Amino acid sequence: MNGRLNYFPTDYEQSRNTFRKHFQKIKERWPDAELTTTSIGKEEDNTIDMIAADAKETNQQVLFFTSGEHGIEGYAGAAMIHLFTEEYLDRVDPNTTGICFIHALNPWGMRNFRRVTENNVDLNRNYLYNRSSVPEDVNEYYERESELFLPHGKIKDLSKEKMKLQAQLVKALAEEGYSAIKEAKGMGQFQFERGVYYGGEKEEETAVFLKKIQNKLLSDYSRVIHMDWHTALGPSNEITMVVSSEDKREEEELKTKFDLRNIQKFTPEKVKGDSTNHFHKLKNEQYPSTYLFSALFEFGTFGTGKKAELREFMTIVLENRLYWEGAEKQEDREWILSEFREMFYPLNDDWKKSVLAEGRLGMEAVLGEEGILTST
Ligand SMILES: [Zn+2]
Repeated sequence: MNGRLNYFPTDYEQSRNTFRKHFQKIKERWPDAELTTTSIGKEEDNTIDMIAADAKETNQQVLFFTSGEHGIEGYAGAAMIHLFTEEYLDRVDPNTTGICFIHALNPWGMRNFRRVTENNVDLNRNYLYNRSSVPEDVNEYYERESELFLPHGKIKDLSKEKMKLQAQLVKALAEEGYSAIKEAKGMGQFQFERGVYYGGEKEEETAVFLKKIQNKLLSDYSRVIHMDWHTALGPSNEITMVVSSEDKREEEELKTKFDLRNIQKFTPEKVKGDSTNHFHKLKNEQYPSTYLFSALFEFGTFGTGKKAELREFMTIVLENRLYWEGAEKQEDREWILSEFREMFYPLNDDWKKSVLAEGRLGMEAVLGEEGILTST
């Protein structure tokens, strides 16, 4: 129990301290490793921290972990970096393998327990390979159903608001269909800066930062193995691997290769601005001879099915509205925040236990298969 608590800190600064402490341990195996800290955003002391080292002899491959692209989801991601340094570091060959670990791509979101950046941007809608290629009407459903997605007024009575939202959603589903509403979410939107799933009007500082790292790793190494850690999606208390549509392998092929229960592919053309998509596109266009494995790894919370999806949707919409407009009653405010927390960083011990157990399965399946871990 106590050991487990160390993996799940209570706030951003605690998590960052733990991450910075990994540096000494990493330096024992990669003496030239560097810890860098980059300030992000308007407020002071929100930083992206990175520990990186070249291989000692030849840069054959690199292990790349990213966490906190969606702020609050970074706690589980930081736990994975922690777990890796505790349990797997000794199984990596420093002569041929470099490492690059990133703590909190969206530090403001992690500090404030939000998913988006301080500019309300969902970073995974912000990495457009070519911004001018996004058509104006990229998200027609979103615009038509904007009442669902945009905040409108202070929350006065939560139970009434929930009923109203549910009725609006049922109506939208009847008019647009289920897939249209899902599409509105997946594609994000680039028009309403206070709406949910906002991709931003320009590149976020984090996107500039991460693109540079993606370029550097693809040019320095022959093989790049990337795990991007997230929470919420997929079956409760299980790990799900989500692969970019730019990875040309089929779901079945991936399932044969990687020993994992849950593997999904993004539907082509449906998700705009995802960072792993950008990574694959960059590789295909500029570094065709480099091997890239890059996928998202999600720890499920609410689960799958329409009921869970409805709960997720309500949580995202209400939290966004609470942030912009506030709530009259303290108890309503607390309910929304605790529901949001349950979705992205649950407090219960079973979930934390599952993150560690499933995280081990995910790392062993991927890093074993990709030749990052040597056998013991
Ligand atoms: Zn996420």
